[in-house]
Amino acid sequence: AAKDQGKNTYQYYTTSMTADAFRRLSLENSLRRALERGEFLLYYQPQVELETERIVGGEALVRWRHPDMGLVSPAEFIPLAEETGLIVPLGAWVLAEAARQAKAWIDAGLPPIRVAVNLSSRQFRERDLRKTVLGALEAAGLESRWLEIEITESILMERGEAAVALLREFREAGIDVAIDDFGTGYSSLGYLKHFPVTSLKIDRSFVQDIPADADDAAITAAIIAMAHQLHLKVVAEGVEDAAQLDFLRRQGCDAVQGYYFSPPVPADEFAGLLAREAA
Ligand code: C2E
Ligand code: MG
Ligand code: MG
Ligand code: MG
Repeated sequence: AAKDQGKNTYQYYTTSMTADAFRRLSLENSLRRALERGEFLLYYQPQVELETERIVGGEALVRWRHPDMGLVSPAEFIPLAEETGLIVPLGAWVLAEAARQAKAWIDAGLPPIRVAVNLSSRQFRERDLRKTVLGALEAAGLESRWLEIEITESILMERGEAAVALLREFREAGIDVAIDDFGTGYSSLGYLKHFPVTSLKIDRSFVQDIPADADDAAITAAIIAMAHQLHLKVVAEGVEDAAQLDFLRRQGCDAVQGYYFSPPVPADEFAGLLAREAA
């Protein structure tokens, strides 16, 4: 009878679990081992300064090469990694790898750029985030001015004073801090002046339909003007065409990132972009 029951239980699960739930479960299991198996890698997307049309930064974007499923999108595995806590060791690896790579490019004689690394709110709950960030720089022998961290508005809201204190330490150490996906959070614009940040990244959702969408155009222009009043730099995300670029240029946006210039690319391709620029 026990056997039958076991069988019934199994059938119950197979018929009630959706394909999505199975994929999730299987990803979660393999995610635990992915780090030790070396299945993660970083792509880099150039950030182009509009005044000089030069690459001034590269955002490190993690990729997971799953042995059976191929490249899995961070949109799928980052939330899983956050829920399971795996984002903590994964995030530490991303910091160390990005810092190592940035130093290797400088040592190879390429034009130096700032590498930007995304941090998730889960990482801000760890006591030793400060050590993880500064330790990554030290291990790589990279000067702090070549590192930027990207945080979301929600980190500032959830973590409050603790996040502010930590960011202040990063700023004092010479590390730049960008607010990612700006405009999608609970942004009260007034709070910005209290936060130790150096730039805002306008979320792709606002950039997408400019200049045609009058509301988005107004919001984008207002964000740029306000940021400059507060002495913050502005990077526009998700720039895909010349019309968007022209509009952003006219509004005085400092830098852009998006498919118009380049999608995120593997490290060797990114080095190629830097080398081409130096030539
Ligand atoms: P994000 O930090 O806002 O990164 C920008 C995302 O927009 C990237 O997606 C990039 O590929 C995509 N993108 C850039 N330009 C364009 C464009 O012109 N058009 C369109 N449609 N998309 C564009 P990706 O690489 O899939 O990453 C998604 C998100 O996953 C990131 O959003 C970030 O929140 C998270 N993520 C990626 N790597 C890490 C990481 O190392 N740590 C943490 N905590 N999060 C990460
Ligand atoms: Mg980002
Ligand atoms: Mg973003
Ligand atoms: Mg995002």
